[in-house]
Amino acid sequence: MARVHNFSAGPAALPQCVLREAQDELFDYAGTGMSVLEMSHRSEAYRAIIEDAEATLRRLLDIPPSYRVLFLQGGATLQFAGIPLNLMRRRRAGYVVSGNFAKLAWREGCKYGDAEVLASSEASNFDRIPELGAVENRAASGDLDYVYICQNNTIFGTQFHTLPDCTDTPLIADVSSCFLSGPLDIERYGLLFAGAQKNAGPAGVTVVIVREDLIANGPARADICPTYLDLRVQAEKGSMYNTPNTFGIYLCGKVFRWIEQTDGLVAMAQRNRAKADLLYRTIDDSDLFQGTADPKSRSMSNVTFRTCDAETDEAFIAYARERGIEGIKGHRMAGGLRASIYNAVTMDSVGALTACMREFEASRGS
Ligand code: PLP
Repeated sequence: MARVHNFSAGPAALPQCVLREAQDELFDYAGTGMSVLEMSHRSEAYRAIIEDAEATLRRLLDIPPSYRVLFLQGGATLQFAGIPLNLMRRRRAGYVVSGNFAKLAWREGCKYGDAEVLASSEASNFDRIPELGAVENRAASGDLDYVYICQNNTIFGTQFHTLPDCTDTPLIADVSSCFLSGPLDIERYGLLFAGAQKNAGPAGVTVVIVREDLIANGPARADICPTYLDLRVQAEKGSMYNTPNTFGIYLCGKVFRWIEQTDGLVAMAQRNRAKADLLYRTIDDSDLFQGTADPKSRSMSNVTFRTCDAETDEAFIAYARERGIEGIKGHRMAGGLRASIYNAVTMDSVGALTACMREFEASRGS
């Protein structure tokens, strides 16, 4: 059966070779006589799987030894609470509200302390990354426990292309939809986290990378922090305080290996840039399609655009579906169209989408 061109925002396309390998190993993993699905997380075979996943990720991102890598559950969403519970020691933190997920994280932060909105682009329906001058000034005052950003806004198709300089205030970033799309300078962050279901693997795994000194004394709110969310406990237990998402982590490990085997994150970033350039160029050259994000804030992962009206958007979605193109309906909060061009989406698929856009436009005589 032919596979579709999958532009879903997540869960999203996985590399075909990863799916094939997992299929081959599904009944009998490496001669163990059982599936990874059936394997104790305390077994030697599984320990090797999780250790390899972590080691590969560390090589890919060049993660310093002073950072811990955790594979948790509860999605990126659970970390919206986990971050203030662990890190809001003085009960004061700053949030950059650049989209829906940043806003949800800020709301969660408000439950545990004074969560200040340092900058927001809500007034222009999150079409851009807000100016960061005020954020940097506020961070410089030194009384914030952290500055929180959502580095790539999946719904609105915007991305931080430079990080705020927060001096000594830890920068916390939700990198869910840009994680592993290119290199990251880990030392710029106090903590970064990502739901895996875009670039790293299947839904149900959240990768947390945290500077060890920030969690060494236990959670800021030890009185109320659920043990599961206690990052020191999770680090001490090697992400196995309880049963982890064993199969999900195994698949993440395979995706990490695939990135390594396809020349790593610099090469991945170049391929992603070429895909994004082609798609944005097609939008900019068109009289029918228009981009919805401010050009300076455009995301390399989620390309948001629209036609002249909602009816034509729907007609284009149907037209594309007939040509094997799926997942391009915009999020309900943003409307319009969105193509997520994560790592496993090939240039071939982006070419199919852009050709389809041109044909559709021509078919309407525009
Ligand atoms: N943060 C970002 C940037 C996202 O794109 C998403 C989901 O798409 C989330 C957070 C929420 O993630 P989860 O569904 O894993 O909780």
